[in-house]
Amino acid sequence: MKDLEQWVRPVIWDLKPYSSARDEFHGSASVFLDANENPYNAPYNRYPDPMQWKLKKRISEIKKIAPEQIFLGNGSDEAIDLVYRAFCEPGIDSVVAIDPTYGMYKVAADINNIAYRKVPLSETFELDADRLLEAVDATTKVVFLCSPNNPTGNSLSRKTIIRVLEGFEGLVVLDEAYIDFSSGSSFLGSLKEYPNLIVLQTLSKAWGAAGIRLGMAFASPEIIHLFNKIKYPYNVNQLTQEFAYDLLRREDRMKEQLICILKERTRLQKELPDCLPFMSRIYATDANFILVYVGDANGIYTHLVEKGVIVRNRNTVTLCNGCLRITVGTKEENDALLDALKQYQP
Ligand code: PMP
Repeated sequence: MKDLEQWVRPVIWDLKPYSSARDEFHGSASVFLDANENPYNAPYNRYPDPMQWKLKKRISEIKKIAPEQIFLGNGSDEAIDLVYRAFCEPGIDSVVAIDPTYGMYKVAADINNIAYRKVPLSETFELDADRLLEAVDATTKVVFLCSPNNPTGNSLSRKTIIRVLEGFEGLVVLDEAYIDFSSGSSFLGSLKEYPNLIVLQTLSKAWGAAGIRLGMAFASPEIIHLFNKIKYPYNVNQLTQEFAYDLLRREDRMKEQLICILKERTRLQKELPDCLPFMSRIYATDANFILVYVGDANGIYTHLVEKGVIVRNRNTVTLCNGCLRITVGTKEENDALLDALKQYQP
């Protein structure tokens, strides 16, 4: 990427961001009368650190990425929205994304009035990088890739991702929400090589903390600076910052849980065929869910709901006709799923 300025919306490039009380004073003091806070109810009477430095330092140690290259938001969904707001001019610019993929890229495009161009994956859910690059034109500012992909579960090949990174001059968002469940490696180590790369990760999946809403974007310091300019001043609340900091100190616990999930994933892959209609197909997965072709997806979905087991019906999604997406649960939850499936009668 030669010149970031040419990819940024002029209003954002020129923006003078809001400067909060917590931004302006750095250092130690004992009396804080600068932010119109209530002096009672400590510690939650105080505004949180707008830049979440303590948490970023911890994430920096785990991910081996400088704190200045980390943006934290209210889920990865916040980072997805900020990508549009930073780089795409409403009513003028476009983005290109694989299809099928995570639905929020399109919803955020629609909210921001950005044209969203879909490039279908192959029948085996692979990406043809040349086909994607052909869909790019002068208005295209961002390409969205997701690997491992949702809802298909497979990873895009490394070679294909590199072909897109090298063939497209604008921003490439690579969503790695499910990377911890994959044996493949993250692109975090390639950030230096590709200044147009933005990698998204989250605490919602392998770290088991979807409820606290903490998403991460990793990119060049210049791109992260842009996100920080346009985010809400206190976008990650104090409770989330504290919880996430404690959670991230227990990497061993996360890894133990990961092992259980991967073991259960293998068991489900082995045992599901015995519980499904004969023409079913279980797709390979690098994520914590399995996409399964069952034929009568609506019928099986309704049957499972009656048994109190909720999976995701992907019947109407491109290339996923007749498919259910099943999240890997605990052993007991997966047993309940398998039992309920065994009771299905077409
Ligand atoms: N990316 C992908 C590919 C997802 O599947 C999801 C959630 N299902 C997200 C991002 C959202 O993550 P977060 O909870 O961090 O907003």
